[in-house]
Amino acid sequence: MGKIISVTNQKGGVGKTTTSVNLAASLVATKRKVLLIDLDPQGNATMGSGVDKHELETSVYDVLVDEMSIAEAKVKSPAGYDLIGANADLTAAEVELLEQDHKEQRLNKSLEGLRSLYDYILIDCPPSLNMLTVNALVASDSVIIPMQCEYYALEGLTALLNTIEKIKNVLNPKLEIDGLLRTMYDPRIALANQVSSQLTEHFGDKVYRTIIPRNVRLAEAPSHGLPALEYDSRSRGAVSYLALAGELIRRAEQKVPKGPVETA
Ligand code: ADP
Ligand code: MG
Repeated sequence: MGKIISVTNQKGGVGKTTTSVNLAASLVATKRKVLLIDLDPQGNATMGSGVDKHELETSVYDVLVDEMSIAEAKVKSPAGYDLIGANADLTAAEVELLEQDHKEQRLNKSLEGLRSLYDYILIDCPPSLNMLTVNALVASDSVIIPMQCEYYALEGLTALLNTIEKIKNVLNPKLEIDGLLRTMYDPRIALANQVSSQLTEHFGDKVYRTIIPRNVRLAEAPSHGLPALEYDSRSRGAVSYLALAGELIRRAEQKVPKGPVETA
């Protein structure tokens, strides 16, 4: 059964899109079937997947507002995962959703029946706690929270954790934190080390062991429309996201409930 995971943090520039695209590509490299949903009107995950957001014939807008099926709206990314793209049209969707019934449930409904087709469905969230993000959290089993280890990171985290808790209580009881991901990590910076240890003290094994280093290849790859694994497979960035995929798979797939006991 597929697992639905939102990559979220209301702060911009913390590595959500980089994580979504590179994790999707790494999961494909480990033979998992993946759907990536771009839920940010900036369309960075779409472009970074090698799909031109200006040329999209179908997008997540059609899914959310016009109830187009995922099967109809998806395109294949060059890296091998299915993609529901986004562009500036999605800004209007956020407003249009507010006038519709079951506005928080739109994405959740559209994903019904898709768990049998994919191992992982990743959702790249916009940098705000708006109706699009609420749709993502309502549809998800868990969240990945990318964060930079800097002073203000922890402040924003409290607001995000409160929102997740609220959604869990009111709209989606199954929602869990999959993990906190340290991104753009530079071990030469003392503050990064301090914040990193604070995180592990507070959140224990909710912090992924994998740390994503600051790596120029991760920043360059999107301008070529490629995940780092395709752009420079031996770069530290690409290798770190492969490690994250391994860690995620171990966490997700070891928890699979046991089937009926077989008798001889
Ligand atoms: P978000 O989606 O949270 O706004 P992005 O993934 O777009 O964040 O990252 C913000 C910027 O930082 C982008 O230019 C991206 O290429 C760059 N970036 C992200 N992760 C790394 C990293 N580990 N090393 C170097 N640059 C990174
Ligand atoms: Mg982004």
